[in-house]
Amino acid sequence: MNIQKVFEKIESLRPEMINTLGDLVACQSFRTPAAEGAPFGVGARACLDRFLEICRGLGFKTENVDGYAGRVYSTDGESALGILAHLDTVPAGEGWTREPYKISVEDGKIYGRGTMDDKGPAVSVLYAMYALKELGISLPGGVELIVGTDEECGSSDMEYYRSKKSLPPQLFTPDACYPLINIEKGRIAAKFSADCLSETLIGLHGGKTLNAVPALATAAVKLDKSDLITAAKKAGCTANITFEDEGGAVKITASGVSAHASTPEAGDNALTALIKLLSLCDLGEPANGLIRGLNKIFPYGETDGQSAGVSAKDGVSGALTLVLSVLDLEGGRLTGGIDIRFPVCESVGSVGKKLSAALESIGFVPEINGTEPHCVPSDSPFVKKLLDAYEAVTGLRGEPLAIGGGTYVHGIPGGVAFGCEVEGEDNRIHGADEFISADALVTNAKIFARAIVNVCG
Ligand SMILES: [Zn+2]
Repeated sequence: MNIQKVFEKIESLRPEMINTLGDLVACQSFRTPAAEGAPFGVGARACLDRFLEICRGLGFKTENVDGYAGRVYSTDGESALGILAHLDTVPAGEGWTREPYKISVEDGKIYGRGTMDDKGPAVSVLYAMYALKELGISLPGGVELIVGTDEECGSSDMEYYRSKKSLPPQLFTPDACYPLINIEKGRIAAKFSADCLSETLIGLHGGKTLNAVPALATAAVKLDKSDLITAAKKAGCTANITFEDEGGAVKITASGVSAHASTPEAGDNALTALIKLLSLCDLGEPANGLIRGLNKIFPYGETDGQSAGVSAKDGVSGALTLVLSVLDLEGGRLTGGIDIRFPVCESVGSVGKKLSAALESIGFVPEINGTEPHCVPSDSPFVKKLLDAYEAVTGLRGEPLAIGGGTYVHGIPGGVAFGCEVEGEDNRIHGADEFISADALVTNAKIFARAIVNVCG
């Protein structure tokens, strides 16, 4: 087999690939209320139908799994390789300087919602399979493309798909970045609460979502402003703290830097800065005990969970990260949330137990939820074959990555993430003016064609 012929064929398909991507971008497929036969809304269903229609036009067999996902293949029976992409997107949102649902090509970049996440990669996979099929290259292993329609809102599409169909033993998703992600840390999403009736601490709010370092936190306290300023100086946090009089109390505002919860060292936690300041004040009981307790187990500036007794580290996935991300005082009840990403040497049960003990020791009732880590060994033949394809096409060295976030294959045995973002280029995924370069659309197809041959040939 001559791989150059495959690459030439893919090059010749460039205009058709861009056309097909435009067709898919025009199908608005963000989640809307369910309708009959459309579990994630009529837009997602229409996009799935259109994609499968395009695949049939290219000579593939297709299956529509009840509007949840689709399967594209050319040989019956079990496939050696599955490639999992998604056709749903997040809504366009604000700030676009171009049409979000009509592609525009400028300076070699194709703009439109979903061009990079994940309709473009789905198109590259499809045309890689098509080029191999058209050139009559036999693939004894067999390959199939699976397209889901609910990746952005919890991946219940794959849960359903797996309850109806079996997945190939080797699987990758082109829904993250190159070179390849083979390790995804486990996650704990914990909540905690305690009664906190106080005449001194009358308001406390910080953070909106569990998976981000909070950039803003506020408190309202009935204390002397000059004492608070002294406490802030003593606390010595880099987060910016301001004070203003508000209805007989002092409003304290802490401003830090937001970051994703999987990379907390990139942020500056406004909430733990505020707690540190409050821990130096006399708020009366039970607020004193609760706030000082939080300051003790989640100290400002610490991101590895050491003071909560949960720190862990291994050679393949790195260190555990912990973020106190949400805190709210509402109706005399103090509730909060914590996001932990833990390495493969740990488990939900063991981290959850240690965290619960720490929270209980300072007077909170914990509620632990979590997902186990995901790992495909970096020396497995599958990982090596994919990285070989990446290296052969790009000429770059490919080392597998461990990340704190979760991808579409988290929890799917044998699954890794392979493509398509590259370091140093911001494709504005989920943002305004999302794009993929036309060259990347073609190069990705070449990488996937080579990967399919490596794994199934
Ligand atoms: Zn995606």
